[in-house]
Amino acid sequence: MEVVPGVHLIEGITAHCYLIDGPELTLIDTGMPRNAKKILHYITEILHRNPSDLKNILLTHCDVDHIGNARELRSITGASIAAHPLDAEIIAGKKIRQTSNSGMNMLFKLLGFFLRVKSFPVDKIILDGDTIAGLTVLHMPGHTPGSLALYDPRRKVLFIGDTLGYKDGCVRGPTKSVTWDMKQALHSIEKLRSLEFSMMLSGHGEPLISGASAKVQQFIATMNENKTTR
Ligand SMILES: [Zn+2]
Repeated sequence: MEVVPGVHLIEGITAHCYLIDGPELTLIDTGMPRNAKKILHYITEILHRNPSDLKNILLTHCDVDHIGNARELRSITGASIAAHPLDAEIIAGKKIRQTSNSGMNMLFKLLGFFLRVKSFPVDKIILDGDTIAGLTVLHMPGHTPGSLALYDPRRKVLFIGDTLGYKDGCVRGPTKSVTWDMKQALHSIEKLRSLEFSMMLSGHGEPLISGASAKVQQFIATMNENKTTR
């Protein structure tokens, strides 16, 4: 579905992925494994484009429900895969995805095993402040060490990955069990204070399609209140 002109949300593959339509196609995240066909179908049947028009696959972080089809899509389309170096190490199998919850760490491990997710190297390393495919890269460590948000300054859209969510009219903060470092996560969210965006698109939940930065500011204010009263 087209959430804003030129930005499509491909649903039904667990974590959302977003396809940006332009002279080149850019895909933000790739969903759970075994859904490459669904994404290719969207490109060819809904957008009437060629698979080879997909040039960039940008991964907001290393979780299996976001990277699941990246390798397969790269081999079919020739697109290059970009991620932050700290998560690129996890994607390449050099480091393990950690949270503060040992049960959850085991679950991530088992999930990767049962879904037969193979490690792979990314093609491009992207850092805070970089521009890629017209998007500004924001390093947002917390959910994972190399979590990223991507900001589209032209459309005023913020792709936030799993740093924040939106559901039932409320901005949702990080869940402790799947967060690598809660302190850093909250610090990263603070960075959004100075950013003006009208829409926030996250890895899960619903698209926040208007007045997004005001809603996030409100969330930050409540978050800080809770900090001081704790
Ligand atoms: Zn995640």
